[in-house]
Amino acid sequence: MLPELSQLIDLHELDKEILAAEQQLQQLPEELAAFHQELETLEGEQARLQEELSELQKQRREAEAEVTDLEEGIKESRKRLLSIKKTIEYKAMLQEIAYKEDRRDQKETRVLELMEAIESVTRLLAETSQKLEDTRQALSRREAEVAAQMAQLKEERARLEKQRQGLREGLPATLLRRYELISQRRNGTAIAEVRDGVCTGCHMNILPQQFIDLQKGEEILQCPHCQRILFWLGDEAEEGNNLSRQVS
Ligand SMILES: [Zn+2]
Repeated sequence: MLPELSQLIDLHELDKEILAAEQQLQQLPEELAAFHQELETLEGEQARLQEELSELQKQRREAEAEVTDLEEGIKESRKRLLSIKKTIEYKAMLQEIAYKEDRRDQKETRVLELMEAIESVTRLLAETSQKLEDTRQALSRREAEVAAQMAQLKEERARLEKQRQGLREGLPATLLRRYELISQRRNGTAIAEVRDGVCTGCHMNILPQQFIDLQKGEEILQCPHCQRILFWLGDEAEEGNNLSRQVS
């Protein structure tokens, strides 16, 4: 194989590694952003439940005050009942008392309903607060991990880029330009291995004469269909590939 072709293969491997590092460097902050979003949702839920709880407690205090007022009214009416002489007035007062007792019973039922609602919202609030606390802790752990991963990835990328720079300097400028042009057009894959006379970049057969030339390893050849720079690893590798394909 031509030494510059072998260098191109190395360059392609490096490009792929750098791309993978860059993708991870992009994904990690996105992962944290999703985590923050989850936390915000939980915080919103907690605030909503707290508001609901204080509204219910306010309603309970009001209903309880009304029960107290009605109780006092009933006591008052009973006292006045003792001083009433006329039957008609007596009857009217009894009716009033009965009406107030009915209202008081209704209010007491309302207080019980509110107490149940308060209990259920309190439970939900406790669950949400626990989830929020767990999420906060998990996020802070993940943030520390991500920071370490990012630092490592940046170091790795810098190391790979330095290596890539070295490789590029050793390649003829025209070949490098050709490699880059194809890379842009072919989604980062500028070179392709040929197996059994087929370009693995586009899965089409290359010309028989081209395959013969490729095997000679004297010039840089491109696939007539996808224009990728072709390489061939030899019969042994090809047999290995066939074997591994048969096994899998
Ligand atoms: Zn091709």
